[in-house]
Amino acid sequence: MKRRLIALSLLFLVGCSQTKPNNTINIVTSFYPLYDFATKIGGDKVSVHNVLPNGVDAHSFEPSPKDMVAIQESDLFIYHGAGLEAWVPTVLKSLSDKNIPTVAVSDGVVLLENQDHDDHDHDDHDHGVSDPHTWLSPTNAKKEMAIVKDKLVEIDPDNAAYYTKNYDVYATALSTLDKDFRTAIEGVQTREFLVDHLAFAYLAHDYDLVQKGVIQGLLSEEPTPKELELAIEYIENNNIKVIFAVPTESSKVVDVVVKETGVTVLPLYTIESLTGDQIKDKQDYFTLMQKNIESLKEGLTDVDASH
Ligand SMILES: [Zn+2]
Repeated sequence: MKRRLIALSLLFLVGCSQTKPNNTINIVTSFYPLYDFATKIGGDKVSVHNVLPNGVDAHSFEPSPKDMVAIQESDLFIYHGAGLEAWVPTVLKSLSDKNIPTVAVSDGVVLLENQDHDDHDHDDHDHGVSDPHTWLSPTNAKKEMAIVKDKLVEIDPDNAAYYTKNYDVYATALSTLDKDFRTAIEGVQTREFLVDHLAFAYLAHDYDLVQKGVIQGLLSEEPTPKELELAIEYIENNNIKVIFAVPTESSKVVDVVVKETGVTVLPLYTIESLTGDQIKDKQDYFTLMQKNIESLKEGLTDVDASH
């Protein structure tokens, strides 16, 4: 009996040594928005490690063995789900006997069907059946932050009030962001926008806009001359003045389209992964979403009114 007690207390000590000395909750997130949400809600009670490196494509990413160890040694693994991270099911399987809390933030969101299937069928750009880009709607982002908050409260109830207070601050900021989008979109002349990455369906859904992915799949790949020709034709025939592109994914293809059509390119951020410069500039979900508002307002207003 005594020996068992010693064994148990040793176990307890080992258990304690795995968390940081000040009881920081070690969180691992799968890509940037979740990192940002966890950092904002967890504040100084958490330490967050994001496995997706800066500037790397979230859709084709594969974690390294080191990332797998980080997840297995974490106190909480936060991922998105909805088919964005193809590698996550394997990770979850490896965690099944480890008793590590996990949470999928997209669980709180009504998913839209993936628009990719209609436009192109490049295999390596296929997002699956559901569109995974939920966080680009501030309303969804609020639901996802609530899921992060609830999970933190569950695993660390002593700090429940702290997490709730942080959540309330950002929930208010997300309501403001939603209002800012509505105000900006109110006076636009066209509701259709062309994107290089079909990531904005949830945003379009919220604000009664229509995203078109005419050059989806052409970027960072070798487009066939026919595809490029079709994109250029579409822009010319429809008198498109502006296209929206993810600056980090911008490529020679966009340059060719710009040269051929004279179309203006405005940045629209998916916020899937930040570049080193954006991090240095202290950009985050909120600042980049404000830039998205500015781009949409400018791009959808400064167009030929006949369009
Ligand atoms: Zn994407």
